[in-house]
Amino acid sequence: MYPEPIKKISKILSDFPGIGPRQAIRIAFYLANQGKHLVQSLGESLEELQQIKICKECFSSFEFSKGENGLCHICKDKNRKDNIIAILEKETDLISLEKTKDFKGKYLVLGEISKDGILKGEQKLRLNSLKERLGNNQEKIEEIILAINPGTLGDIESSLLFAELKNFTHKISRLGRGLPTGGEIEFADDETLRGALENRR
Ligand SMILES: [Zn+2]
Repeated sequence: MYPEPIKKISKILSDFPGIGPRQAIRIAFYLANQGKHLVQSLGESLEELQQIKICKECFSSFEFSKGENGLCHICKDKNRKDNIIAILEKETDLISLEKTKDFKGKYLVLGEISKDGILKGEQKLRLNSLKERLGNNQEKIEEIILAINPGTLGDIESSLLFAELKNFTHKISRLGRGLPTGGEIEFADDETLRGALENRR
């Protein structure tokens, strides 16, 4: 019933976070009605996204320039502690934590928690890569901070991660005290996040 190009793009859009099939169709028609200019600049912007690569250590996205070794600026930074790692779901959480300027360790971006609370394929790969990295160290690392959003799914995922990682570190703490249940790290203000970071347990 819908024109084929509308169907095609809305199928792609409906996989986006927070976008359902109906919204996808609306956006597709919106784009079609905007004319050439928007579609063209959207195409160009998408093209530029190819300069974004995923860091081979922390799995966050960063702007890649030639001659780099595949590490983002945080993983490359010699002034940051290698023996404290914060695990979070997504880059936007990482950016929020970075804004507090209170965290001097490294990160692992795990990917968003699935609705059934289990670790998906890509998350398993990322976790295994961290375990491999930690396993190569002579000593256990000092601390792993689970900066996973509070809430039922976050709690399930945190206990899964706890079981997976407890042998690699002296301490696993959970960020979230001070964050309201269901509250998102991404949207928390600096002050709240700083408190949650200080009061981790
Ligand atoms: Zn990195």
